[in-house]
Amino acid sequence: MGSTGPPTIGTLHRLMDYDIVFLDRVELTPVSRRALERVGSVRTVPVTAQEDLLAAVRDADAVVYHLFPGHLTRDVLERCRRLRVIGRIGIGMDQVDLPAAAGGGITVVNAAGAQAAAVADHAMALMLCLARNVVASHTALVAGDRNPPWQFMGVELEGKSLGIIGFGAIGRRLAQRAFGFGIAVQAYDPYVAPDAIEEAGATPVGLAELLAGSDFVSVHVPLTDETWHLIGADELATMRPTAYLVNTARGPILDEAALVAALRDGVIAGAGLDVYEEEPLAPGNPLLALDGVVLTPHIAGWAIEAQVRTQESVVKDVARVLRGETPVSPVSSAGGTGAPSSTGAGHRPGEPRPAAQPMLPYSAWEESGLPHPSATHPFGAVPGLRRIIETEGPVTTDRAYKVYIRGSGSTRVTKLARSKLDQAVNRLLAQKQAQIDELGSPGDSEYQRVLRVPGSAPVVVREIGSRDLYEVPLNEVVALMRQRLEQFPGASHEELMRFVLDTYGWKRLTDKARTYLTDAIRLMYEG
Ligand code: NAD
Repeated sequence: MGSTGPPTIGTLHRLMDYDIVFLDRVELTPVSRRALERVGSVRTVPVTAQEDLLAAVRDADAVVYHLFPGHLTRDVLERCRRLRVIGRIGIGMDQVDLPAAAGGGITVVNAAGAQAAAVADHAMALMLCLARNVVASHTALVAGDRNPPWQFMGVELEGKSLGIIGFGAIGRRLAQRAFGFGIAVQAYDPYVAPDAIEEAGATPVGLAELLAGSDFVSVHVPLTDETWHLIGADELATMRPTAYLVNTARGPILDEAALVAALRDGVIAGAGLDVYEEEPLAPGNPLLALDGVVLTPHIAGWAIEAQVRTQESVVKDVARVLRGETPVSPVSSAGGTGAPSSTGAGHRPGEPRPAAQPMLPYSAWEESGLPHPSATHPFGAVPGLRRIIETEGPVTTDRAYKVYIRGSGSTRVTKLARSKLDQAVNRLLAQKQAQIDELGSPGDSEYQRVLRVPGSAPVVVREIGSRDLYEVPLNEVVALMRQRLEQFPGASHEELMRFVLDTYGWKRLTDKARTYLTDAIRLMYEG
């Protein structure tokens, strides 16, 4: 897309017009539409069979999908000539070969955490339906059955134990809901530090212990090679005969044939399922003929707030990548919402840093009339800072300071900005709502802290961009642009300039900045 010759006024000011392909029909909100129209043209090419996929995506700069039936395999991705970004309007990334995308320099983005509240609500709803026979009694009543109520005898939730498999964004929220019902929670997640599970009020356990010791088991892991058929006949056999199994994650995480047999034989008491090995559920699927099951057609994420949040955050990230900016919710080739957890807990050095829960710009939330997620973020409770975080985009693990600085309307880390953030951090510490894990100043112009707030992702608070644009040696800017061009050979000059601005945390491409950066581009071609 971008030019590679020396810059001219025409190329510098050219409007970007990327080809953005939607693989299924998605009704865009006005916010999403505007975000995309600023960078390119949208084509919808509904793909209904894998054979049609390559033709749809081969020439696209960006591919966005929600529920298309197929796989962006290595073979398909390697034949895409211009593809720079894949946006999944959702959470699960099992339809993309992530290592192949990473190898081909294709950025993949999703909406990590955006549906967590909705899915946790749904898992809770399935638990309640199972415990109190809501669906069976409703169906009987509607059919004219007036048998006495004790045929629908249920169990109380209070005092029961819930085992959560996968303690990420959804698992944690389910725990919070369960605590409200007086349920004891134990969790299995080898990628989350036991301390972090304990801090969230749950007991860290192994999988075998969880299965044997839970009245309810709820699955919240991504579908990966490791989690495929994580629960089969052997695991089901270790569960309590009175136990209920809930799956709102992905169908193939359970061995469905084994589950059907276990339900028929009374190995467990029942199951609440939102996802299946094959979707949509085939009319003859044996699950449909079983008692003790509650089935929903993959609707856990379908709450209006969750869908708006999901769509807008993904679409804006797609636009960011096309503009050469850093996405807010990138998916790592290590498995996306898979290991390690997007909570950040248990993150090991050398591994790709997991994506943090996205927060949308305040304006987007105002427009859609939704409560802003920072209302529940620990920083959100800090007067003065809340507004700042709300103003500008996400608080991600390594962008918090930048967000703060930008939100304050500043282009630089001023003394005032630094002292405001310090005040907020100190207040959290004084209230014992947070602890600082690390404190360091790797260089003169950098300083960073890792804030750990119980029940929330650790936030790396890092100062960047404390230098004025004109204080950065031109050679440094040139080197940065070269690096970027190597990574994205098609990057336009406009994108290179914006990338430099973004890297240093500067806000606006003023005329003066443009002249400075144009000099850098010239130097890049000359040198
Ligand atoms: P997340 O990444 O925040 O959490 C997933 C957790 O699973 C992580 O903490 C990770 O460490 C853990 N994990 C990974 N591999 C594991 C393993 N082998 N054993 C135990 N734990 C493991 O993701 P999330 O937002 O909580 O979403 C979880 C899944 O829910 C998604 O991957 C998606 O497939 C599914 N989902 C379903 C719907 C729906 O409509 N039914 C909607 C949204 C998400």
